[in-house]
Amino acid sequence: MRGSVPCPGPNTVKYGGNTACLELRFGEEGRLVVIDAGTGIRELAAHVMKTDLPKGPIKTQLFLTHTHWDHIMGFPFFIPIFIPTTELDVYGPVTYEEDTLDKILFGMLTYRYWPVRLEELASKIRYTNLKEGSRDLGGGLWVTTKYLNHPINVLGYRFEFRGKVLCTAYDTEPFRNVFDVPADAPGYDEEAFKEGEAAAREENEKVSQFFRDADILVHDTQYTHKEYLAGKVGWGHTSFEVAVNQANRAGVKRLLLFHHDPDRTDAQLEVLERRIRAGVEARGSPMQVFVAREGLEVEV
Ligand SMILES: [Zn+2]
Ligand SMILES: [Zn+2]
Repeated sequence: MRGSVPCPGPNTVKYGGNTACLELRFGEEGRLVVIDAGTGIRELAAHVMKTDLPKGPIKTQLFLTHTHWDHIMGFPFFIPIFIPTTELDVYGPVTYEEDTLDKILFGMLTYRYWPVRLEELASKIRYTNLKEGSRDLGGGLWVTTKYLNHPINVLGYRFEFRGKVLCTAYDTEPFRNVFDVPADAPGYDEEAFKEGEAAAREENEKVSQFFRDADILVHDTQYTHKEYLAGKVGWGHTSFEVAVNQANRAGVKRLLLFHHDPDRTDAQLEVLERRIRAGVEARGSPMQVFVAREGLEVEV
């Protein structure tokens, strides 16, 4: 739920203080797929140990949107990785060719940072660096990936199963015109400005197409638009207003507002949720909007 850093405390009891981790379940057998290994994965691990392990060895897939700290810091707390019978496939984007996913994740597992070492992970873990594309995950489950706009490579995921679609678009901010400088600034180039406008529009349109008609979209809404404009441009996150508009235009059925700013209190999120719902309703849009909170279950 939470962006940037875990933030437990009296102000985050309702929506939760853990960083990103989504549990997806597919089909009658409840096949497990996990997105991101933020601190929320610790509770997921406890749940998996109780409900999945008694039925047999854990075979699952973990998709990382990117490898920023808040999205991977829970990885050593995913207890099934210490069990020999576990098979885990980790997928995710990398930004620099010399970095591989295993090196990035296991960079944490040295005595300098952590008392558990790599050799203690008894499970079988495979790593796949992802780029944009589509992939058959077997059993009728497909995933499509799309690069988003963040300081490092981030992938949005689009999972499709039996005609239903779940998409993620975090961490990301709308693409901007990189030539957007004041017209009286030295080096202002009108042609470049126009090209920049067109390129940004095109990229944003591709993102909208990516989550078009999704049954569920989990979208970055770290800031309000006012906060965004007051010094957060270029930080890689989206405002509530922009996310809601874009999702609405793309025909999204249910929008989950996600990656809350660590300073955002429960009371503020409640107000934002009410305000946004009223705005969406006033437009006559059928889109349902929820502020994501820890433990929230949504069925498609
Ligand atoms: Zn993040
Ligand atoms: Zn990030």
